[in-house]
Amino acid sequence: MKPLTDDQLLRYARNILLKPVDIAGQERLLSSHVVVVGAGGLGAPLIQYLAAAGVGTLTIIDDDVVEETNLQRQVIHRLDTVGRLKVDSAAEFITGLNPDVRVQSYAQRLTAENISTLIPRVDLVVIGTDNFASRYLVSDFCAEHKIPLVTGAAIGTSGQVTSFDFKHQASPCFRCLYEDGEDDNLTCATAGVLGPVVGTIGSVMAMEVIKILLSIGQPLFQRLMTWDALSMEWQTFTYQTSQQCPACQKRSL
Ligand SMILES: [Zn+2]
Repeated sequence: MKPLTDDQLLRYARNILLKPVDIAGQERLLSSHVVVVGAGGLGAPLIQYLAAAGVGTLTIIDDDVVEETNLQRQVIHRLDTVGRLKVDSAAEFITGLNPDVRVQSYAQRLTAENISTLIPRVDLVVIGTDNFASRYLVSDFCAEHKIPLVTGAAIGTSGQVTSFDFKHQASPCFRCLYEDGEDDNLTCATAGVLGPVVGTIGSVMAMEVIKILLSIGQPLFQRLMTWDALSMEWQTFTYQTSQQCPACQKRSL
């Protein structure tokens, strides 16, 4: 890991002041490589906070273009990036915020064929798309390659977050929580969502990413945290590896 420059000591001073981070933690963030799948509602706060915190390499995967209807919540995109690829708009945002961050972007949808090229050996993957097929795919890949995974979802006025500790063989996976074939039709495009809902859930996800990268605190491993924005109630449920989960049964063989 490279020692911090004077500019970096200044930029990250409020991180470094925190004992659990300190200079060593900041150096670790700068040498980390995180993949963000989805540069939409959850991707926006994720990209903002991870880039601002100085996560050194961000790979962003999203095949969408910015639309005017995104601007109500996807706060990294702007009126003048409408019609452009979200990954390009996101890369422009990051470059304008923090030149320490190296950005790799792929305007592709993840498939079983391209996932090992797009997500090579990285420190962590975080996924915030509203596409269930991508989440199963990413969960299976991360479990197989022992890459920690943070996932979140938000719709309407509620959301949820959980993390998977795939460095440990015993960790449950996304399929343990959601059986294949669960409702994939409910999306923000059809059901609506308020901006602060994705902002809050995406920020919780960013916090999970930082905790896992720095090995601090208690990440939401084997815990699903849900939030109802109208009642302002947070709830946490624990879960275990499912005996019916095909991916985990295969892994434990
Ligand atoms: Zn499983």
